[in-house]
Amino acid sequence: MNAPTSFPDTVPAVDTAPLRRFVSDFAALLDSTDDLDVILDRGGALLARLVARDTWLPDEFAQPSLERYQQYLLHCDSAERFSVVSFVWGPGQATPIHDHRVWGLVGVLRGAEKVQGFQPRDHDGALVQQGPTRDLLETEVEAIDPREGDIHRVENAHADRTSISIHVYGANIGAVERATFRPNGEERPFVSGYANTTIPNIWDLSRTA
Ligand code: FE
Repeated sequence: MNAPTSFPDTVPAVDTAPLRRFVSDFAALLDSTDDLDVILDRGGALLARLVARDTWLPDEFAQPSLERYQQYLLHCDSAERFSVVSFVWGPGQATPIHDHRVWGLVGVLRGAEKVQGFQPRDHDGALVQQGPTRDLLETEVEAIDPREGDIHRVENAHADRTSISIHVYGANIGAVERATFRPNGEERPFVSGYANTTIPNIWDLSRTA
């Protein structure tokens, strides 16, 4: 009569241990230094290791939307010193021109993206391109350094597939008051928020036992 005991299938489809290690290592890095050059250099190496293997991002945080690119919060430091976000780009999707006002690191986990920097022109503030458009390919990492200008536009380099990049910022980025820009330099207030209301549980160590 007794049906066999069954447990809900709560085992995650992926092992999120690489993300757990990353956030622990990143917190330790920020404990050890306030030097932005060191944070971007060593933090960039940590992010490069994270995006070198595409095995750990739960599907829930890899879903594109037909409407616009998605920003899923994966982790926020308890003191909001840094946040980790998966950006999911549907085919051809792009950001507006925007700034950050904090440091950032971008690593491509899946696919590729195109990045174009901008800077305000001296005499009228209109935005002009800062260098050529760059392709950021799978596993590559680049830094956003507000000391050198942090205005850019990012788009999926692919017109026919989803791309995903992992971003780390020096704040709870979804809550930062920053700006989007028109080409004439006109600013609009911008608080990005996040697409998700729950974050990945990376702390249930029983699941990796
Ligand atoms: Fe950006």
